[in-house]
Formats: sequence, structure tokens, C-alpha cells
Amino acid sequence: MFVPPEGSILHADLDAFYASVEQRDDPRLRGRPVIVGAGVVLAASYEAKAYGVRTAMPGGQARRLCPHAVVVPPRMSVYAQASKAVFRVFEQTTPLVEGLSIDEAFLDVGGLLRVAGPPREIAVRLRRAVAEHVGLPITVGVARTKFLAKVASAVAKPDGLLVVPPDGELAFLHPLPVERLWGVGQVTARKLRERRGRRTRQDADDRDARPVVGSARARSGVRRRSAPGVRVGRRRRSIGAQRALGRRRREHDELSAILAGLVDRVARRLRAGHRVCRTVTLRLRFDDFSRATRSHTLVEPTAHTEIILAAARGLLVAAAPMIAHDGLTLIGVALSNLDSDDAIQLALPFDQHGTAALDVAVDAVRDRFGTAAVRRAALLRHGEGLVVPLMPD
Ligand SMILES: [Mg+2]
Repeated sequence: MFVPPEGSILHADLDAFYASVEQRDDPRLRGRPVIVGAGVVLAASYEAKAYGVRTAMPGGQARRLCPHAVVVPPRMSVYAQASKAVFRVFEQTTPLVEGLSIDEAFLDVGGLLRVAGPPREIAVRLRRAVAEHVGLPITVGVARTKFLAKVASAVAKPDGLLVVPPDGELAFLHPLPVERLWGVGQVTARKLRERRGRRTRQDADDRDARPVVGSARARSGVRRRSAPGVRVGRRRRSIGAQRALGRRRREHDELSAILAGLVDRVARRLRAGHRVCRTVTLRLRFDDFSRATRSHTLVEPTAHTEIILAAARGLLVAAAPMIAHDGLTLIGVALSNLDSDDAIQLALPFDQHGTAALDVAVDAVRDRFGTAAVRRAALLRHGEGLVVPLMPD
């Protein structure tokens, strides 16, 4: 089999994006710790990160860690412009660009050897072009798969370039902390450490750790021989619902009930589209217009309301300190990492003991009689209207 000398997937990721834009536009901020967002930290410059300041941290905690940091309000429209300019550079590099967020993308440069040279040279030029045209530092990881390219860029940050050669993949991964693995969130990492004493990729690679690192991504992403392609213009990437809360302070029980209503909606849409999800994201917005998100990636893909709800509730509990500090004005939930439901084995539809049967029954009732026909008991306590008590909360 022909083995290319170098992987041809680039993961390009701007460094401390919002904070770098602020430092670019105000020379006085360069070399100083900068925090964007007062309520919740939306971005922290590397000078602030050195003090332990992290994205999505409550502002008060960040200021205690780094009292001399300059705190600036976000300028979203400026960031959006910068993002557009960076994506223009991506698109001039290759037509195969898969955007992951406002400041990162996968680029497949596999077919460009003759016209543009090997991937490493393309990555060098890409970094230079972003610096020259947009004035921002960007880190690029180059590897044979998207998974490895993303891990490489995380390791190379800030303002770096790291190429993982095909014959050096395991040597690159083994010493890394498990958290570095894309798809291993805080929960999985904690499980690996506490229950199994695993700390590194090598530990996690042991066969007996696999039931814990159950995600297909964490399991096979590394070992996979064929590179999963960069996907351009694929089906929708997430299903979400949100609810504005106004300014009144909400207690945790009330937020939990609202969240349950949102999960009911998105899970139903998920099943109607014959999809399953792996990642559940909780979105929060505060009265200073700052935002925060918390995500959890499930071990197995699912379309079950109760499993999604359990993940969403876990995220809400984890976000509780942040919510206590600030006025929460919007709560939302999004399901991503979507796949079609024929990709997994579903316990359908007459498994009387599983939650699948309940989901199917509730969907059928709602299809026939409308969404309001069946409601959670928890929602009743908060004036969301009547109905049949469904599940214990
Ligand atoms: Mg970034």
C-alpha cells in the first residue's frame, strides 16, 4: 500500500481568538494579560492563561487569579469580520475546508502536491498569510487524520506548527494526557484517572480501558488507517432549542425543568430526522450578553430523551457556580455529532423496559395530538400547562 510521506489534513485554529483581536487592534494590550468579557471569560490572552484564567470561567474568579489583567468588552462584529478574513485565506488554500467554529477549520490539502507543494509547506504559508492579511496568530496541526491534526494543533499552541508523521503517530500520542484526546471530555478523563488509574494515551490504549473510553472517536480515531475525509457542505451539524428567561432570577429546579422541556423538543426532532447524537451542549447567555457553553460527549450515540436529559442536567449542575454569579437570560440545548440512526443498533420499538418504547409512544401521541398533549410533570409546577404526568423527575 502506498503510504504518503506526510498526512494531508490540516487543523488550523486561531490562538486565543477574541483576545488576539483585541491585542492586534490596541498596541497597549500587547504582551499584557487580556480578558474579554466581564461576566464570563469569553477569551483570555496567553499572558492571562499563564495565571490560570480560562475561557468560560466566571469573571470574578478570573480577576482574582490575575488582578492586573485588562478586562475588555467583547466586540463581536469585529471578531466576525476577522473570522471571515481568515476563512478567505483557508479557501484560497484549498477548496476542501470544513469549518468547525468561528476560529478553526479542517483543510484537506491532499490533492495539491503538484500545484502547492507538500502539506508542511502549505501550512507554513497558511500561517504566514493569516499573520500578514489578518494580523492574527494561528496554530496548525498536520496529520493523516482529522483527529490527529486536531490533537497536534492543541499541543503546538500558541503560534505553532506541528506535523505528525504517519510512522510517528503512536509515539506522538502515548505521552499525552488523556484530556488531549479529542472526544475525551472532563468526565471521561476523570473516569479514566479515578477508576482505572489511567493518565496518558498509552494507558488509555490498553484494551481493558476501552469500555471506559467507549467513544468511537476516542477508540478508533487514532488507530484508523484510512483518513476520514474533510466534509464539505454536509448535513446539518446540530439540532438546538433555546428559551429566553428574562431578567428574573431562576432557581436551579426551575432551570432544570425548563431544560427538560428543551430536551424533549430537540430529542423529538432528532428522532423525527432518524438521527442519533453523541454530544450534548448547554448554552447560556448572561445579561451582559456574554455567553458560555458546556458540552458532554456521550459514550454511545443515542436518540433517547432520558439519556440526553441526564447529560444536559449534568452540565447544568456543573455550570451552577457560573449561573449563581450572573444574571442568566437565555438557556439552550444543542445536540451535535449527529449520525443517521441506522448507524447504530436501536432497541426499537417494543422494548417494554427501555426508554425507547416510551420515546416512541410520546412521539406518536404528539404527532397525532400536538406537542402539548403530553408534558413533563416537572413543567407543570412551573406553569407550563397541563397534562399527563410522564416521568419522575
Ligand atoms: Mg481557537
